[in-house]
Amino acid sequence: MEKLYNHLYEWYAVNHRTLPWRETQDGYRIWLSEVILQQTRVQQGIDYYLRFVARWPRVEDLAVAPEDDVLREWQGLGYYSRARNLHKAAQMIVERGWTPFPTRFEDIRQLPGVGDYTAGAIASFAYNLPFPAMDGNVYRVLARLLDIDEPFDTTSGKKLFRAKMDEFFDKNHPRLFNSAIMEFGALYCTPTLGDNCLSCTLRPYCLGYTNKTATLLPVRKQRTQVRDRWFDYHIYVLRKKQRTKEAESETEELFTLIRQRENPKDIWYHLYEFPCEELPSEKTTDHDTALSLTHVLSHQRIHARFILHKVDTLPQTADTLCVAWHELDHYALSRLTLKAIEKMGMKIG
Ligand code: SF4
Repeated sequence: MEKLYNHLYEWYAVNHRTLPWRETQDGYRIWLSEVILQQTRVQQGIDYYLRFVARWPRVEDLAVAPEDDVLREWQGLGYYSRARNLHKAAQMIVERGWTPFPTRFEDIRQLPGVGDYTAGAIASFAYNLPFPAMDGNVYRVLARLLDIDEPFDTTSGKKLFRAKMDEFFDKNHPRLFNSAIMEFGALYCTPTLGDNCLSCTLRPYCLGYTNKTATLLPVRKQRTQVRDRWFDYHIYVLRKKQRTKEAESETEELFTLIRQRENPKDIWYHLYEFPCEELPSEKTTDHDTALSLTHVLSHQRIHARFILHKVDTLPQTADTLCVAWHELDHYALSRLTLKAIEKMGMKIG
């Protein structure tokens, strides 16, 4: 095993990417990076990470930030439950006196939004504690190196992979081992292998290569079922003429209504969007649809229609908010709403 580790570490020393969260052993910053990187490309994650760290340099700063600010800073990353968990976890750390950041795996694992992978990543990267960090890349490398054809996305499969990893793990160099195997999976032993195996430094140890199964691995049981939903969004637009003191001429300002989503169990909780009507199924509408968009989430496919109403009075209700069109970006909006605003700008302005 020592030889295999050495080949892996040599590969890592030469090939690893320089990333801002690799330059630190600060648990708080590593945690931020890990949460941001769940379901986000590394390049996009860097900008968000740098903005979060600059705005909230310590966990205490994040804990006292208004939730709306955190959601707004998160805008564009999607999966807003991660941002809410981040915020809740920061408050929990402060309440329990775990500042600047918890140092025990068991405490890190208790934080909202932190599973075995994230806890292992933080414990090893920040404190060099001997816990594996098994992300999708690691499952793939392990399945190929050890020729494991059990699906890794079932309860029994996860157990098996974890047991294999416990044997395979380099307990003397947890930080280096986790970093190297994750990077190796991300950059070299990739889903589409091409002819990488031919010049792979781990080839002599790779059972998947020897048994010619590498390209078939890892095995996944099944993709998640995707549910279709149909949303009609009503965009009310009111034009108001205004005369400024300085200007001789009149200027025109646009106003619209938005509403905050209120169901904590549903998508986009606490985010703002145009007033929305959910339909039981696809159906025609009497209104002219100004824009149709399909928005795909991990478990849902949203078929959205945006209906434009040019009105003289906004039909404001207790749960809607009247805002100037140019100030919409002051609110934490769902990604779908942002897309619609961008596309509708032309039709409205
Ligand atoms: S030989 Fe191929 S499958 Fe095996 S570790 Fe190397 S790149 Fe991955």
